Amino acid sequence: MPVTVNAGTQLIPDPALIVLVGAAGSGKSTWAARHYLPTEIVSSDRLRAVVGSGEHDLDASDDAFSLLEHIVAARVGRRLTTVVDTLGLSPDRRRGYLAHARRAGLPAVAVLFDTDAAVCRQRNRSRDRSVPAAVLDAQLAQVRDTGGQLAAEGWDAVLRGSAGHETEPAHSPGSRGAALRQQDRPAGLEFILQISRFGWGEDPAGWLRSVASAAAEAGFAGLALMDHLIQIPQVGRSWEPIPEPWVTLGLLAGLDNGLRLGTLVTPVTFRPPGVLAKTVATLDALSGGRAFCGIGAGWWAREHAAFGLPFPSAGTRLAMLETEIEMLRALWQPGTKAYRGRHVHLPETTCYPRPVTPIPVIVGGSGERTLGIAARLADGCNLPSDVASLDARLPVLQAHCARAGRDPAEVTVTVLDVPVIGRDREHAAALVESLRGPTEAAAFARRHHAGVAADHIGRYRLLAERGVSAVFVSLPDLAGPGDLARLAPVVGSFA
Ligand code: GDP
Ligand code: MG
Repeated sequence: MPVTVNAGTQLIPDPALIVLVGAAGSGKSTWAARHYLPTEIVSSDRLRAVVGSGEHDLDASDDAFSLLEHIVAARVGRRLTTVVDTLGLSPDRRRGYLAHARRAGLPAVAVLFDTDAAVCRQRNRSRDRSVPAAVLDAQLAQVRDTGGQLAAEGWDAVLRGSAGHETEPAHSPGSRGAALRQQDRPAGLEFILQISRFGWGEDPAGWLRSVASAAAEAGFAGLALMDHLIQIPQVGRSWEPIPEPWVTLGLLAGLDNGLRLGTLVTPVTFRPPGVLAKTVATLDALSGGRAFCGIGAGWWAREHAAFGLPFPSAGTRLAMLETEIEMLRALWQPGTKAYRGRHVHLPETTCYPRPVTPIPVIVGGSGERTLGIAARLADGCNLPSDVASLDARLPVLQAHCARAGRDPAEVTVTVLDVPVIGRDREHAAALVESLRGPTEAAAFARRHHAGVAADHIGRYRLLAERGVSAVFVSLPDLAGPGDLARLAPVVGSFA
């Protein structure tokens, strides 16, 4: 199902503090219920019913507002979206809410409901318990004055309740406009499914086959496997399966689905470089030229100790990375003659089978020295996917390319992205809650760009506009093939 993005709507950052302002019957509660979850809406009427005899028990107002202040402070302090559904006519209270948002670094938005007075009066009359006419008139007069005050109070935005609204993730400003651009003039971007968790139960091979065919069905161009000896704590528990990737890719190579196959990334410390050259060349031959090789310096001391492997200093590992790339290239060249390079000397280069086509070498890691190695030696450089850090690293990579006398276009930029993709806002929030572990929900949502398909399309468009050519997508909630259908509209819009 294609995702459509509407032009001409007002954007509300998400998460945010949203303070509604309007007379009784102006449509505030209806608007709130249309756009937000019940738990995100703090309503003085509802709290009157909690601490008093009903929503209209004005004697319970003080108690209701003291609870409301407490709830707003707590939610905003956790940077959770909070919609304050009161008349919103007290400047002091508005200033108080705004101060909470500023302290928490949460965007703050006022939404003004200047609904026609006659409409409010009509709606008021048809209610079970209407507000006295004189009280409503006073509210309507106050709303007219408040319209001017809001502009001077320092809100990030003052919106009108009567306009169309959509939320835009605060972690990806500009993504809604980017999604529109993608809809109007699509850019291409390749997606590769990175599998990092293997909930395969009793049928490892069957599970892998079904995930691979679902990935092909969803429009992915390839599969990438993590290369770790123990499941990493960022992904799962250490007793969960994490298969040897090159063996596993051998199984996947036997499926006739055209997917490209490789690792993201193989640490230089696991295998002697020459043996890796042999392994990857074999995969390329078996898969008809579909192999790629992600490599990096490795980072996890524990898995090395557990498997009896040396884990030298970062400087040594980076030197090994350079040597390894040189070794791969030497053994993948045609012919058998001796090789004398910068770090590698071989008496012969007899490595059969040869790769079917040149195998792309993608260096993972974003440290200064790693970027230098990628710029000099790699076919691709894999960076983190958040736009801000990408904007910081791309110029560094380009400067290294210039220093190495290489056209930056020769080094493709890829990113690793671990997105939370919900069917709707509510589902995205539920996924965050089930996956976040001890991490604060707002921080987890930001780190994993939590949102719906349209949000991710916009974000990926921003990456494509920065020259990213492929996204490695690792679904944090991947349990099986069924989870990939949610990605199909995202991948499809870049086909
Ligand atoms: P509040 O007092 O500002 O919270 O107003 P409500 O949201 O409770 O709305 C008052 C009445 O107006 C309810 O009966 C709503 O169904 C109706 N209402 C609210 N918004 C709209 C709207 O956009 N269109 C129409 N036709 N009715 C609305
Ligand atoms: Mg209401």
